[in-house]
Amino acid sequence: MKITRLTVWQLDLPLTEPYWLSGGRLRFDQLDSTFLRIDTDARLSGWGEGCPWGHTYLPAHGPGIRAGLETLAPALIGLDPRSVDHVNRVMDVQLPGHNFVKSAIDIACWDILGQATNMPLWQLLGGDAPAPVAVNSSISTGTPDEMIARITRAAAKGYTVHSAKVGGADPAADIARIEAISAALPPGHRVTFDVNRAWTPATAIEVLTSTAARDWVEQPCETLAQCAHVAGRVQNPILLDECLHDMNDHLEAWQQGACEGVKIKPNRLGGLTKARQIRDFGLSIGWQMHIEDVGGSALADTAAIHLAAATPEAYRLASWLCHDHLAVDPVPGQGARNAGGTATPPNAPGLGVTPDPDRLGSPVATYEH
Ligand code: MG
Repeated sequence: MKITRLTVWQLDLPLTEPYWLSGGRLRFDQLDSTFLRIDTDARLSGWGEGCPWGHTYLPAHGPGIRAGLETLAPALIGLDPRSVDHVNRVMDVQLPGHNFVKSAIDIACWDILGQATNMPLWQLLGGDAPAPVAVNSSISTGTPDEMIARITRAAAKGYTVHSAKVGGADPAADIARIEAISAALPPGHRVTFDVNRAWTPATAIEVLTSTAARDWVEQPCETLAQCAHVAGRVQNPILLDECLHDMNDHLEAWQQGACEGVKIKPNRLGGLTKARQIRDFGLSIGWQMHIEDVGGSALADTAAIHLAAATPEAYRLASWLCHDHLAVDPVPGQGARNAGGTATPPNAPGLGVTPDPDRLGSPVATYEH
């Protein structure tokens, strides 16, 4: 089987309401998503999606994904998409880094591999059943009352795990947010306080030694070394996210004792192939893992939910669904959706999400022989 064509679409995905991170420093109104279809000479096609969370959150942006696809396309045409590790090695030689570009390609190849073998991705990735995965809400930064109101609305949709975004310029305001939210959580609910790199090590230690809350704290500072410094001086379990881009970052996090868990996001790591390797490393050392994607429609969410469903429940916390924050739905009725606090991956061969090209508008690029 050979790759014969890559077709690329660009979609703006507006959020239902503005989203604030880092104590209001970063505002997000819409995401720039790239949909990719890979066609083969075997009449099988696979779909992938590359979608950063805006262009201020991580070193990735929508136009860069389309530029990267143009660069990589000539090296991909003619490859067997079922040989996912080989495809990844070719991509890494042709274009180091640029994980969001590679993620769209890699997911489309896994989709084809699943269809060719008549297996859903949750099974190809090692699972024994399309297990329902706990999903978590994402609570934008605000005053304590505003954030508690958002948690109440999320609880009404079935969410029992919440990711509350903190990390403002004022440590006292963050202490107030953490104490109020931790105290107001409904019985049986859990919260992760996601700082998104906003604190200096000194602020992180000041805030976390000033609250009685012992909930998970995510990515307190910018760098791995700073987070490791904090992790050794506070009692909260630490989850790392934005400072992890490849396997070596994860090895370093383990060696430095920087965390008790990680976010595993296919787009940030370069696709399902590399996310699976890191998931397996996390299993071997006993990390708690949130497996979800950086952003995107239900297509990107579903790829991550397949990997989560293939991961033993004891090793994962919960998975966020970006599509729940979008005002548009390019794949209506398809993929893993929140149903009372869990999402279940499709059972069809491959990814199980097949966009209708008529809904995506005109392609922005086509690459073929
Ligand atoms: Mg995070």
